[in-house]
Amino acid sequence: MTGYAVFGTEVEVHLRDTGPRESQAAYAEVGRLLQRLHRDLHPWEDGALMNLNRAIAAGGSHETTPDIIALIEASRSLERTTEGAFNPAIGALVNLWGFYTSSYPITDPPPMPALVDALLVQAPSTSDLELDGAVVRSVNRAVRLDFSGVAKGLAVQRVCDTLAGHDVGPAMVNAGGDVMVCSVGERPWRVAVRAPDGGVLETIKVDRPLAVFTSGNYYRYGEFDGERYAHILDPATGRPVDEIMQATVIDPDPLAADAGATALVVAGTDRWQRIAEALELERAVVIDRNGDVDRIPLPDLP
Ligand code: ADP
Ligand code: MG
Repeated sequence: MTGYAVFGTEVEVHLRDTGPRESQAAYAEVGRLLQRLHRDLHPWEDGALMNLNRAIAAGGSHETTPDIIALIEASRSLERTTEGAFNPAIGALVNLWGFYTSSYPITDPPPMPALVDALLVQAPSTSDLELDGAVVRSVNRAVRLDFSGVAKGLAVQRVCDTLAGHDVGPAMVNAGGDVMVCSVGERPWRVAVRAPDGGVLETIKVDRPLAVFTSGNYYRYGEFDGERYAHILDPATGRPVDEIMQATVIDPDPLAADAGATALVVAGTDRWQRIAEALELERAVVIDRNGDVDRIPLPDLP
């Protein structure tokens, strides 16, 4: 196993039945890949994404990276399918709520309602983007791309692709509790589904390529006057969500699992099942603010 400090977390790559030389070469290439993604996708430090956001704000066209193009393309369909619950164009709102920081919890007061509403009426969406090859422009200058809700999904996918180019055995990636099983040998991998208290909700045996991603409003949050506010915002209100405490998605597609987990937290108790079905997610486990656990598909009755 080796670990990399990226995306504000620790990404671990586990390899089985692999010699030291092969492991070393694979780990080194994965390290370069993760550093590149971390730099290019960082929402508030200089890099490819910030350069693109600056160009969008100025109303210009801008040539960007293949990773960002892949995220824009995936996000457009994810935003539509989730009825806008997942919307990575709301970076200005995320910034306004103070979440562009590495120190949690945030203790600043929430923004003035008028400021939130001013951003909300600009209705930024990934559907405002026009692509011409690697050149991006936006018909809406209020779009600020923030792929934090899906970047780990892309990253684990790219890690698996990178490992597949090396002579390694079964591989698994754990990005701070969000897991992708790349490949399986004789023995299944055991993957923990996180619980809201930081413990383990359940452990599942995985015997095929599969992503297990969790989003929660308990880990990164702001706190002011005893009120907590989540780092996941409802794009429809511009405000933090509070109905669902945590959602875990289990699906072969890590981008759908990552964005899907964020979307289910936003969707709330009335809409999450419909959105999980629209995304065709294999499994989802949702915990509401009272701690009640719900899931699809329902477990078989005894
Ligand atoms: P984690 O950071 O725990 O992996 P998520 O995958 O849910 O959690 O990503 C949350 C991040 O996505 C937030 O910190 C913010 O940058 C961004 N975000 C917040 N609300 C939304 C939303 N409704 N759609 C897309 N991205 C969002
Ligand atoms: Mg997510």
